Amino acid sequence: MGESQPVDRLAAAPFYRPTGKEVEVFEHAVLNRLPLLLKGPTGTGKSRFVEYMAARLGRSLVTVSCHEEMSAVDLVGRYLVQGDSTVWMDGPLSRAVRQGAMIYLDELAEARPDTIVALHSLTDHRRTLFIDRRDEALKAPDSFVLVASYNPGYQRGFKEIKPSTKQRFVGMTFGYPAPDVEVEIICGETGVDAKCATRLVKLAGKIRNLTELGLAETASTRLLADAANLIRTGLPPRLAAEVAIAEPLTDDGDTLAALRDVIALML
Ligand code: ADP
Repeated sequence: MGESQPVDRLAAAPFYRPTGKEVEVFEHAVLNRLPLLLKGPTGTGKSRFVEYMAARLGRSLVTVSCHEEMSAVDLVGRYLVQGDSTVWMDGPLSRAVRQGAMIYLDELAEARPDTIVALHSLTDHRRTLFIDRRDEALKAPDSFVLVASYNPGYQRGFKEIKPSTKQRFVGMTFGYPAPDVEVEIICGETGVDAKCATRLVKLAGKIRNLTELGLAETASTRLLADAANLIRTGLPPRLAAEVAIAEPLTDDGDTLAALRDVIALML
């Protein structure tokens, strides 16, 4: 923990509007040194929440975007040849453990299974990272926090996180906020007025209900914020919604036309 007062920390924190009890849950998980798993579709504020909590708790944040090529070595570290000797380079996980930082493993299900295995000893009572290549056992300081996210729908059963891994984490589901909360988020995030934000939120509600369109992902808070920003800088609302909401959701011509119709009706 740093020297600064909580009030200073909050002033430096990014804008985050809680949508439920997530701040309390996170703080209690940290008090109990439990790792956290944030579940939910893209654009629902998971990363922003982690940035906010890191600032609030006075931890530095190390973020890793997991991908299918990523292995335990990428996370833990490797020996590099320098001249005629080899030097050890910590990966982001080892660095975060040494520094007692917060690490955020975004889209953990994307990572190779050996990456997840490397986390096991850190996510139970041992709170230790074993760096086999160095024969080192790195005990995590109390301030170390491990947070991971994953998107259960998106992987469609293909890349799941194993139940035995999930059981190591305190879990929270992120989704689309209640309309009044989402209006506050859009206003706070972009500076558009409540009338504009309300229209966008209503539009999102409509699109989210159009299950017959078969969209893989639907209109997220992120897309609404993007549209709102474009409107704030002067782009006509319909055009803003088309390029920031409809286009990112689909490449299919018919679906795009259907989304454009909804936008024309609502804005
Ligand atoms: P995720 O990590 O779930 O994909 P992000 O945290 O990147 O989503 O959120 C995308 C954007 O949506 C943020 O940059 C922010 O503009 C907005 N946003 C979503 N939820 C919130 C919230 N509760 N408070 C503030 N901004 C939010």
